[in-house]
Amino acid sequence: MKEITGQTRVLGIIGYPLTYTLSPNMHNAALKDVALDYRYLPFVVPPERLANAIAGIRALGIAGVNVTMPHKETVSEFLDEISPEARMIGAVNTVHNVDGHLKGYNTDGTGFIKSLREELVDPEGRHAIIFGAGGAAKAVAVSLLNEGAASISLVGRSAEKVAALKAHLLGNFGVFPIKALSFDDDLADIFEVGDLVVNATPIGMKDGADLLPVPLEHIDSKHFIYDLIYTPSETALIKAAKDKGAKAVNGLGMLLYQAAMAFEIWTGTPAPIAIMRDALLIGLEGGDRSKYAQKKDQRFSG
Ligand code: NAP
Repeated sequence: MKEITGQTRVLGIIGYPLTYTLSPNMHNAALKDVALDYRYLPFVVPPERLANAIAGIRALGIAGVNVTMPHKETVSEFLDEISPEARMIGAVNTVHNVDGHLKGYNTDGTGFIKSLREELVDPEGRHAIIFGAGGAAKAVAVSLLNEGAASISLVGRSAEKVAALKAHLLGNFGVFPIKALSFDDDLADIFEVGDLVVNATPIGMKDGADLLPVPLEHIDSKHFIYDLIYTPSETALIKAAKDKGAKAVNGLGMLLYQAAMAFEIWTGTPAPIAIMRDALLIGLEGGDRSKYAQKKDQRFSG
């Protein structure tokens, strides 16, 4: 990596508490690979300091930042411009500073779509079933609708939140087949029509790795399962879906491509995907390259 000089530019991530992030691993590896004179740093920013932190980006000439929890939905009020997609999603995960003009983007949804396409799944014409009604569900739903999905069924535990997400999507996309359902409803019909199933809940993450967000009895080989969770790399859902003959992937692809797209926004340089992917996988193994070498090929598909 180049020496830090008077010309070195700064990128970073703001979040709180920011205990676990793989973004510095991916971005610094990419910057090194394409020999750009930047460094990517973590900035721990509690909510009461968000306004000052954004003023600091302008004052210090920081070239751009990723934005993570809990600031994704609140940061936009401090920015000069918001991309149409970030506006539709109602959240910003990437800020670009162009001569003091701060523009907010959301690359989560487009990262999801890129990753889907990498799996040879064309979002156009898909009948998607999304479990969860939080920020990730919204980003996925908006990007699927932007890409020509044929229908969306939202399934969540809170009827109000699912209904609010449905209303939000209808407000942005007009008349469109969107269903709002709860976990307790009979889901047989939507699985009969559905071909893409997305888990956008945390069910299956480390603490509840044996729990399933999706009723297995409806899954068969025609369904493509996209679990947004990436730790563990094989959730109970992914494993069970594969056992039923379905194709199933974890959220690493989305994580990788949202980062790649942010990198391109900031630097105007094509992201070195293979380098970023390796950095992500090595980071997931806590920097242990030998463990990474053993698991390299299994990671993205669980
Ligand atoms: P969020 O805004 O907190 O939303 C979580 C959603 O899951 C909410 O709708 C919540 O229900 C629901 N939920 C939580 N616990 C539940 C439970 N025990 N039973 C039923 N529903 C439950 O979180 P998010 O940012 O959307 O993230 C959701 C998941 O996606 C997380 O696992 C996150 O790690 C993952 N993610 C992955 C990527 C990636 O790049 N791969 C990117 C973003 C997020 P309520 O609406 O009732 O609260």
